Amino acid sequence: RAVRHPLKLFKDRKNSKGFDLTNELVLEKLEKALNDSSVENAHSLVAIDEKNYELTAQNVVNPANLMDNIGQVTFFNPEKLPAVFSACENTDWSQLSAVQKADILRKTADLYEQNYGLLMKLAVIEAGKTLPNAIAELREAVDFLRYYALQVETLQHLDKLGQARGKALCISPWNFPLAIFTGQIAGALAAGNAVIAKPAEQTSLIAFAAVKLFYQAGLPRNALQLVLGAGDVGAALVNLPFDAVLFTGSTEVAKSINLQLAKADNDPVLIAETGGQNVLVVDSSALSEQVVADVLNSAFDSAGQRCSALRILLVQEDVVDKLYDMITKAMQELSVGNPKFLCTDIGPVIDEEAKLNLENHKVLMRKIATRYVEKDTPATGYFVAPAVYQLTNLQQITREVFGPILHIISYQKGELEKTLKEVNAKGYALTGGCHSRIRKQIDFVEKHLNCGNFYVNRNIVGAVVGVQPFGGHGLSGTGPKAGGEFYLQRLTQTKQYYSQF
Ligand code: GLU
Repeated sequence: RAVRHPLKLFKDRKNSKGFDLTNELVLEKLEKALNDSSVENAHSLVAIDEKNYELTAQNVVNPANLMDNIGQVTFFNPEKLPAVFSACENTDWSQLSAVQKADILRKTADLYEQNYGLLMKLAVIEAGKTLPNAIAELREAVDFLRYYALQVETLQHLDKLGQARGKALCISPWNFPLAIFTGQIAGALAAGNAVIAKPAEQTSLIAFAAVKLFYQAGLPRNALQLVLGAGDVGAALVNLPFDAVLFTGSTEVAKSINLQLAKADNDPVLIAETGGQNVLVVDSSALSEQVVADVLNSAFDSAGQRCSALRILLVQEDVVDKLYDMITKAMQELSVGNPKFLCTDIGPVIDEEAKLNLENHKVLMRKIATRYVEKDTPATGYFVAPAVYQLTNLQQITREVFGPILHIISYQKGELEKTLKEVNAKGYALTGGCHSRIRKQIDFVEKHLNCGNFYVNRNIVGAVVGVQPFGGHGLSGTGPKAGGEFYLQRLTQTKQYYSQF
């Protein structure tokens, strides 16, 4: 084996190129995958020899077309979870060298890329991702695998790699059903832990397909088990004595996990990534066309179902009329529809509950907004058309709304500091940004806005692994940032050795 120099490799590290939708071969393979209606039904993948651990199968429906039954998922019986926990075993896995672990993670990344047709198709038909979003999803997943692979080698090389904590529980969301799912698992594995992964029930099919690729790459079953189920399965898992819990989802659930873990005797660590009330500040010097493009992307891409998405646009009063006009007109040009078509900008939201929640918010906003524009909603699936509401003050937004809904509030030039204090008082600190051509203004906003990722004169979503490590603080999460240099350390423990022998 050739000697590797991780430090040099780290410097030369490159993110995945992704796939080019203008390439005919790529398009052909994708179309073939999308037109192939056979999808493998999903069930849990566990290391116990147990036949009757599963409950009855449920149908999975395409959120863009409720007539389209895409497959079946069998949920796990929560009573059998202690046996799965016992089978979760990192002794063999953690004894592999950093290079051996990294090899398996890289092999998994290669397999993800080779199976792009299947994985992207599942992102589209199960999670409602548009094709460009499905590409980004796959790229990010691959980036996480390769980034943590290189990082474990680097830490080992520097003699800074701690000991694995032991057993890690990964609870991942449906909005990045491959990227975040894979990132949590790859991070926990790279650090030498064994993993039980519990993906959101809405996106079990893609999780199942992904875990099979980990096994194909050579990962033993006792190092990674997949447990499918709804919230009751997640809650039952959190009760088991894991050494680490990685959770991405709502602030509310993170709080309840935290409370639960505080009662455990073994003092487990929690890495939580949760919600945000993300703000972009625009002053009168900003380039309006660029603002419009970045606002549309930040607020409506992925149907607004990103925790990083823009929720509140704070615009200097002098330019609010002009920008309101430009943004709402540009919003009307977005196409909302089935994400399997390349022309679609905005796909469906994930399920009926999400749709109802957003529609209820719209009803409330119509009553209190000073002005608003809503696009028409397609009738067939769980679609929520994008909407913009102008409000008079921040107190009118009482909670995080997870969808394509943008609130605009204007601020007076001399009152920005006070306004940002009100934003911070909401307690979240995830993404934020500023559009301005005045350096002092950008610095001012950066200094006064609490957030984990701050973006200047660009969109505020789509953090890139290893380039923009992602995550917030306060109600937005515990840190350390995903895709950043401190993630693996949190999942290990170190021993400071001091001897006078
Ligand atoms: N990392 C994603 C982004 O930067 C957001 C992740 C999330 O929604 O949980 O857009």
